[in-house]
Amino acid sequence: MSVYNFSAGPAVMPKPVIEQIQRELPSLNNSGMSILEISHRSQQFEQIMADAVANIKDLMAIPDDYHVLFLQGGGTGQFAAAPLNLATKHRSIALLDSGHWAAKAGAEAKKLRFHVTTLATTESGKYRELPRLNQTIPANSFDYLHVTINNTIEGTAYHEVPESNIPIVGDMSSNFLGERYDVKDFGMIFAGAQKNLGPAGVTIVIIKDELMHHVDGIPSIFDYQLNADKNSMLNTPPVFAIYASGLVLKWLKEQGGVDEMEKRNRAKSSKFYDYLDQSHLFNCPAFKDDRSLTNIVFSTTHDKLDQAFVEEATNAGLLNLKGHRSVGGLRASLYNAMPMAGVDALIDFLYQFEKDHKE
Ligand code: PLP
Repeated sequence: MSVYNFSAGPAVMPKPVIEQIQRELPSLNNSGMSILEISHRSQQFEQIMADAVANIKDLMAIPDDYHVLFLQGGGTGQFAAAPLNLATKHRSIALLDSGHWAAKAGAEAKKLRFHVTTLATTESGKYRELPRLNQTIPANSFDYLHVTINNTIEGTAYHEVPESNIPIVGDMSSNFLGERYDVKDFGMIFAGAQKNLGPAGVTIVIIKDELMHHVDGIPSIFDYQLNADKNSMLNTPPVFAIYASGLVLKWLKEQGGVDEMEKRNRAKSSKFYDYLDQSHLFNCPAFKDDRSLTNIVFSTTHDKLDQAFVEEATNAGLLNLKGHRSVGGLRASLYNAMPMAGVDALIDFLYQFEKDHKE
């Protein structure tokens, strides 16, 4: 039986990469040492790091006036690090409240005593559509605008980056390298690796140089400038996570890069959304124009049936289809490494389930 992992994260990795890791695990490049043992100061690892940075720059067409950093602490760490580094002038950030993770980012900034102003929210409509800016942001009020580009839990995504007259900090945790964005539209982008890139443990930060400066009174580990000065090796980096992510970046390039991934992700998600939209049992709450390519949120008509669906799907090798605990329902994450065969198997299963559970 084929097994497909639809988890929102940690998530599916490309099979050839897992096989390469397996082959190389005992001895990296005949060094007699495993990647789990080698020093981050070794020439071998320096090369791995340099290749990973160069490949991200290449894949995303990152302009020369941006830095790529490999940090730790996940997206949650960046909810704190972004205001600490960037909100130094006004100590005030603006937010588009598009769901759970946007709210979390706002709450973390507030906890650190920054001002947080929600410019638009779709909470009253249960975040089925995205909040949009319908005003020019007042000048000299905020240091940046926080936008969750892909809403992992609600299944929505900004396919067009909101127009903003202040720098945008974009949380791309769940669609990093899965869809083409113009890096120039952002002051900063961040993403934990564990969804669309590699294993948990490394967080990618892409930041415009002019926004980076030493900040007094913040933890060194969160200081972007210090981390840039030290080439993302201010302390011991997550060597294995960077190595494995580096292999995925090479795989992505071989596959045709971000444009090809977006094409495949559009094809996979459209096929699945089309099925949901014609179904009499399943439905998808997200508004059509705002639907995510990577996280598809759906449900049956009631909770008990959702539960039965998850159980039967698990038995059929279709794993991790339960919705996030905060919203319930069902969710299928179709990241870069999910093949069309996985989507086909899922649709076949939905079809059979619907037939078996006709009311
Ligand atoms: N932002 C988004 C959009 C997420 O989906 C998640 C996790 O699912 C986070 C932030 C938090 O990430 P982490 O677990 O890396 O702290």
